[in-house]
Amino acid sequence: MNTLNEYIVYVKGIKDGLHQFDYDVNKDFLDFFEYHDLLDAHAHAHVNVFKNNRIFDIEIHISGNVLSECDRCTDELTLPINFIYHLVIKLEDGPTEDDDIIYMPESSTEINLAPYVYEALVFSIPMRKVHADDEHGNSLCNEDMIRRLKEYMIQDTPNDPRWDVLKGLLN
Ligand SMILES: [Zn+2]
Repeated sequence: MNTLNEYIVYVKGIKDGLHQFDYDVNKDFLDFFEYHDLLDAHAHAHVNVFKNNRIFDIEIHISGNVLSECDRCTDELTLPINFIYHLVIKLEDGPTEDDDIIYMPESSTEINLAPYVYEALVFSIPMRKVHADDEHGNSLCNEDMIRRLKEYMIQDTPNDPRWDVLKGLLN
């Protein structure tokens, strides 16, 4: 697929110093990486690449909104994201293991920023995705949906005596 060509930085073609790139992170981007945890994304990635000889110091600022399923009620949930991801790539046939630096072969002709923008997106998503509370402290979750989910769980396991106990509690 060629849709992510714009993410490729040609190593030989750029001078030392700061280079800036901007990308839309949208549904096409999610589909490319088969990222099914999100339903949609309306986000923007601003990438600063500071090149110093063979070292590429990269800062990715991702911000915007993503659409996901609520972990609690499964209704759609819009989450604001705002995250800065920093990495250093060094073109050197050196060690391959290093916590702080990503080594790529010295003969590399290009760096593809797409996987790093993807990582920034993944890290920007909160672990727990649930609807917030309103100003009165009431959950904005779809309570009707939660009730139906509970009913479905109970109907789906008719022969398990543990559910009978739970059924008794809920009735
Ligand atoms: Zn919810």
